[in-house]
Amino acid sequence: MDYFEYRDGALWAEDKRVTDLMETFGTPLYVYSAKTLRRHYNAFDEALGGLSHLACFSVKANSNISLLRLLGRLGAGVDIVSGGELHRALTAGIDPGKIVFSGVGKQAHEIREALAAGILMFNVESVQELEHIGRIAAALKTQARISIRINPDVDPETHPYISTGLKKNKFGLDMRDAADAYLLARDHPAIDPVGMDCHIGSQLTRIGPFVEALEKLLAFADRLARSGVGIRYLDLGGGLGITYNEEAPPLPADLGRAIAGALAERDLTVILEPGRAIAGNAGILVTRVLYTKKTRAKNFVIVDAAMNDLVRPSLYGAYHRIGEVVPGGRESMMVDVVGPICESSDFLAQDRMLPAMEPGEGLAVFSAGAYGFTMSSQYNSRPRAAEVIVDGERVTLARRRETYQDLVALEM
Ligand SMILES: *Cc1c(COP(=O)(O)O)cnc(C)c1O
Repeated sequence: MDYFEYRDGALWAEDKRVTDLMETFGTPLYVYSAKTLRRHYNAFDEALGGLSHLACFSVKANSNISLLRLLGRLGAGVDIVSGGELHRALTAGIDPGKIVFSGVGKQAHEIREALAAGILMFNVESVQELEHIGRIAAALKTQARISIRINPDVDPETHPYISTGLKKNKFGLDMRDAADAYLLARDHPAIDPVGMDCHIGSQLTRIGPFVEALEKLLAFADRLARSGVGIRYLDLGGGLGITYNEEAPPLPADLGRAIAGALAERDLTVILEPGRAIAGNAGILVTRVLYTKKTRAKNFVIVDAAMNDLVRPSLYGAYHRIGEVVPGGRESMMVDVVGPICESSDFLAQDRMLPAMEPGEGLAVFSAGAYGFTMSSQYNSRPRAAEVIVDGERVTLARRRETYQDLVALEM
């Protein structure tokens, strides 16, 4: 459910006409809906309402600090995977006590920064990382709260690039190695093993894999308790899918119900790290048609947004719904929607039925709020798009469009 809809013959973002936004801010343009973000965050918060819980938005899905500030005001924590994301979260005023730090390659300076900020915990992914964090915490005369990321070996049934909880993936530790790591953590003076964590993948469209992972983690937690390791936080990661096309993913409430039973009698704070499910359908990418081109093989609609702005179609073959900003009632035809970049993989849609378009007209690429701007680049020396947040009738420029000066600013 989102607040982008067609009314009076045009596409609206809440109470703003998208054509007006194109006029004011230019294209390509990311447009986020504040109401949608709030609705999705609250859905998670309420889904876990009966449990001691924390919803930590995954910053890598969308790291704009205005958006983080909006979520932080609702009480959100965040899941970060780098020192840069920590900096963004702190800049946006996120409570450090609600920050969890994931990722397989945490660097010494990032660990020091996170300890100095007083984050809730590190989600540790290897024994070497555990020892590294222990040494740094000891040198700083502090204690690091950690959880160990478990690889529960469950199949999330999603795209291989975003499956993370299978034996063959680089993430987490299997339970046998994790057991040793917990004992090491238990006996380490500078480490406090407070939690257990997993994140099995992204764009999951079934609850089953979450429940399977939860059951494995709880059984493991019971075994650990007998070794004197009492965890207080159980972090189930992110991964709930969204509707890009025809998927019918479970709702946060379904997930909440499915896990509530198993957690009811336990003295655990449950953490979720949703990214896509909060931001994905809260954003669109607005682009303008530059040319149309008919070859003997295909019809192309060439637009001013490209794979540098939204890489998901090129990277994962991902589907994004595309619609006219002002529907013209023209007949549809089969087209590829492509950008100006010099790569054949530069497409936003392939073999898609779309109404015949004219140069200058607008198209909206839906479900672009997660892994859209954050994965964007300047490839082909294209300044990155602007981002705006619409809240009712109010529009805030959340990031100005990059300029040619920005492109060369760091070069000597
Ligand atoms: C990417 C990631 C998430 C967020 O995943 P979504 O599918 O966007 O919900 C959460 N936790 C970790 C550790 C991640 O790497």
